[in-house]
Amino acid sequence: MTRIDPLSRALHRQAGQHGPIMLMYHAVTPGKDAPVWPWAVSMRRFRDQLDFLATEGYATPTMGELAATPAKAWPGRTAVITFDDGYADNLAACEELQKRGMRATWFIVSGSIGQAPRWPEDGRPAGRLLNAGELREMQANGMEIGSHTVSHVRLTGLDDAHLMQELTHSRTTLEDLLGNAVGSFAYPYGDWDARCAAAVQQAGYAAACTTRTGWALRDKTPYQLRRLTVFNTDTPGSFARKLYFGSHDVRWRDIARYALRRIQGI
Ligand SMILES: [Zn+2]
Repeated sequence: MTRIDPLSRALHRQAGQHGPIMLMYHAVTPGKDAPVWPWAVSMRRFRDQLDFLATEGYATPTMGELAATPAKAWPGRTAVITFDDGYADNLAACEELQKRGMRATWFIVSGSIGQAPRWPEDGRPAGRLLNAGELREMQANGMEIGSHTVSHVRLTGLDDAHLMQELTHSRTTLEDLLGNAVGSFAYPYGDWDARCAAAVQQAGYAAACTTRTGWALRDKTPYQLRRLTVFNTDTPGSFARKLYFGSHDVRWRDIARYALRRIQGI
């Protein structure tokens, strides 16, 4: 385990007092070198992060469990681990979770299951997405499978009919594949508005998560759960600070600015 700088470690001692947080991952690339894509982490860093969560006593329920339970029922440290898109390299990440008795929620694009992604993204690792058999096995191992639409589109730009189709078709495709209800959803690109949130509820989901930074339950609605992005550049120290501040903007200069505002009372 890589060392954490003393100040970040000291800050983290008080972590967990403001309620659950959610972490957002995408790809987990083999080895220890930092990936080029900002939304990927190396397997070495991922393992370190899981070990830190385990050592520091975090509970890791699925998003479905978080949303189904009253906020005050999470008195200790709680971190919901989520993966967007379902890259095939996540299978190894899933094994690491299982080894530690941890669980996570995956958001799957139902129109690209087992195939290369059909939506554009610069710098994404090459390769296919998780296939049906893999998703079933992950679910059998305690992981939650949620929806990330049919085609990974920006929902706010769709008309009502197309919006509802992206939400309901992805849910029913996944439900047929998995043999049970799918209640969790993640907005592609973190793109949502009040109309989208209402449509997600109408389409039969119990909860949805965004990419807004902050404590998971801060907005007091299960259709706008906040998440902290884990970046390729995160160090053990910045990861610990994310958990303490409930924010993914934890470069020292962001923190200095925050502290200065507190001191000046503005
Ligand atoms: Zn996505």
